[in-house]
Amino acid sequence: MSLHISPNFDERTFSISLVVLHYTGMKTGKAALSRLCDPKSRVSAHYCIEEDGTVHALVDESKRAWHAGVSYWDGITDVNSASIGIELVNKGHDGGYTPFPEKQMRSLTHLLQGIVLRHKIAPYNIIGHSDVAPLRKQDPGELFPWEAFAEQGLGLWHERVFTHIDEVQDFYALLAQYGYDVTDKAAAAIAFHRHFYIENLGEDPNAESVRRIASLVQQKLDLL
Ligand SMILES: [Zn+2]
Repeated sequence: MSLHISPNFDERTFSISLVVLHYTGMKTGKAALSRLCDPKSRVSAHYCIEEDGTVHALVDESKRAWHAGVSYWDGITDVNSASIGIELVNKGHDGGYTPFPEKQMRSLTHLLQGIVLRHKIAPYNIIGHSDVAPLRKQDPGELFPWEAFAEQGLGLWHERVFTHIDEVQDFYALLAQYGYDVTDKAAAAIAFHRHFYIENLGEDPNAESVRRIASLVQQKLDLL
């Protein structure tokens, strides 16, 4: 792990309960690192992982890094205070979005395993920037392998069992119960599909959307 110090942090007011994943959305890892460490940018993250798997530690985990902006998850509005932020080097939707390389994902796995142990992060609280800021953000995006991470206990995935909630009006109540801000229903549905049901990204929620969120809520309740 290489140490780059970012001056962009302050004190937490909550204990750590979330991990928020991002992509950098810049041309190179070098450009992203210099922005994350530039006092004028006023942005940072705890870690930044390059495509070759190199992990840079930028802000101490005990401090509040500035990565989430105006965000919401499960009642928390100061997401920065409650989270660890990890940036993945990727050009992003506006610059040539590409799949995340295996080496980068392997480094992320190791990093997340340590974070989960250190801070007892629940799997339903390993989320993307788009999950906490559905109106503004798309990262890390639909190419992120959420299902593969969930299989390793790093995140949740819907179970392939039948659940009998199938009325679409329950969909937003279930999204809210899982953690989403549903003030803007369309944006919340897009964020949910981007993470959990990319085949339906951009479409209206359907019975399978409801089945998936119902399964996630059930798993979350079982873990509480
Ligand atoms: Zn982000």
